[in-house]
Amino acid sequence: MKTLTGISASPGIAIGVVFYYHDETIKVPKYTIGKVEVKSEKKRFGEATARARDELLALKETSTNGKVEDQSRFLDSHILMLEDPEFTGNIERNLEKDLKNVEWILLEEIDNLVRRLESSDDVYLKERVLDIRDVSKRVLNHLLFTERISLVDLESEVILVTHNLLPSDALALYKGKVKGIAMDAGGKTSHTAILARAFEIPAVLGLSEITQEVRTGDEVIVDGNKGIVIVKPDAATKRRYRDSLRVYHAREIELLTLNDLPAESKDGKLIKLMANIEVPEETESALSHGADGIGLFRSEFLFLRSNALPSEDEQYDAYSRVLKAMGGKKVTIRTLDLGGDKTLAGIKDIKEANPILGWRAIRFCLSRGDIFLSQLRALLRASVYGNLQIMFPMISGVEELEKALEALENAKDSLRRDGIDFAENIPVGIMVETPSAALTSDILAKQVNFFSIGTNDLIQYTIAVDRGNERIAYLYEPFHPGVLRLIKVVVDYAHAAGIPAHMCGEMAGDPIATVILLGLGLDGLSMSAFSIPEVKKIIRTVSIWDAEELVGTISEMRSVVEIDNYVNNWMHERFDIVTA
Ligand code: PEP
Ligand code: MG
Repeated sequence: MKTLTGISASPGIAIGVVFYYHDETIKVPKYTIGKVEVKSEKKRFGEATARARDELLALKETSTNGKVEDQSRFLDSHILMLEDPEFTGNIERNLEKDLKNVEWILLEEIDNLVRRLESSDDVYLKERVLDIRDVSKRVLNHLLFTERISLVDLESEVILVTHNLLPSDALALYKGKVKGIAMDAGGKTSHTAILARAFEIPAVLGLSEITQEVRTGDEVIVDGNKGIVIVKPDAATKRRYRDSLRVYHAREIELLTLNDLPAESKDGKLIKLMANIEVPEETESALSHGADGIGLFRSEFLFLRSNALPSEDEQYDAYSRVLKAMGGKKVTIRTLDLGGDKTLAGIKDIKEANPILGWRAIRFCLSRGDIFLSQLRALLRASVYGNLQIMFPMISGVEELEKALEALENAKDSLRRDGIDFAENIPVGIMVETPSAALTSDILAKQVNFFSIGTNDLIQYTIAVDRGNERIAYLYEPFHPGVLRLIKVVVDYAHAAGIPAHMCGEMAGDPIATVILLGLGLDGLSMSAFSIPEVKKIIRTVSIWDAEELVGTISEMRSVVEIDNYVNNWMHERFDIVTA
């Protein structure tokens, strides 16, 4: 038995067997063949494409029967490509001409195709690059006998162990067979961690070397509450964890009894508790955990899920679905926030020296007016189905905000010209997640209806600490005096301008921070749905007076360690919160 310590990224306990996921880039050999071997190379190619085709057909069947909608759409184009006589004809001709092994010929053909598509002016054609690379990888896997395992194809329940997982891969985990996650890389507010919490999968990230310690089939315990992974646990440890699991579930059930009660402090301040969602299906969990609305719908996951640009109509369908599901409750949809760790091949995948400081979120949208317009039109069209609020991410100053507001007005005009209805008075807000926005929030507040503080990025940019980098995760401190002061500035400026200040970063759902956030004056908190009941329980047992007193005491302190210790003791003396 061995215990590894990492970062507690998603709470809960999972006991099970390891599935080691390794999505390695394939090394393609290059060698010369004799004329007599051409026939056998053609045969190998034929067999590999047939196997790839069967695999795609099977995948299509499972995903259309299955849980996640829209996922099979792109598979049709992959199948068509494998059946295209021009594609196979080119490979066969080049085999005869170049006398190189078929893997190499395939790679060359794909590179040519990609070059042609990338130089095209047609956006649709450009977007096909990812599909082509995906299909070729599948065929190459068969030619080279490497196994390509898809996370949606898992047959039994597993604990996923991997070096790193892209947010787009993590999307495949929704209501799937993965019961726990243990990863070498990643931080608490990386998007993989956020998805794990959204999908209620216990996860420990930043373990550095878990992939060196376990193999597929090993038994492990993922303790997402304490941030540890126990490899090959002994019988007594397993028994202890099974007991904890029972207590944990009982506690969850008890907390759900608070669902119909308001999040109201002892002295009567009502706090809006809302859910953060990444896929429309999560509205179900938002409602079952008593959310007052959706405080953040990360719309980019629609794009990541389809691995391409969804059309205006596809977006309209998704947004309408969320609005309808939430009845008249507020639904805050954030416009596209691609960039940083969220890349989209062929569209937002350029190499940047500092992607986190680079061409992301609103910066990307303002320079891709076509993409932004279709999203804004889709949002406006969907607005007739519920209580929509639109929110812009990563605003760094007033010029950017004004450009975004202008784009929204243009989208409204274009709908008016087309005679399409939309709700006229949709509240518009911004994420306050850059220090420059926080410090100029008095100026920004005059032009919007609400603020939502994105602490994941605000902490990252204030302390200059990459939120996904496990090596410096120790610096990522929500209670850093610099961060707390910025939050206070934003709340005070919002209130002075008469608009509400909400928070939708992960800090909003951390029970240890709840009383501080009340004391700082936040009006609403948006978090992973399952955190809502516990945060509500805390709010209902304190008064704003107590909370302000706590904030007063910690604002006199000089270091984050001092604040952390004081707040942890304060909270543990009063509440039975689960902390690492
Ligand atoms: C944030 O930065 O706090 C936030 C909520 O946005 P995201 O995590 O998607 O960057
Ligand atoms: Mg952010």
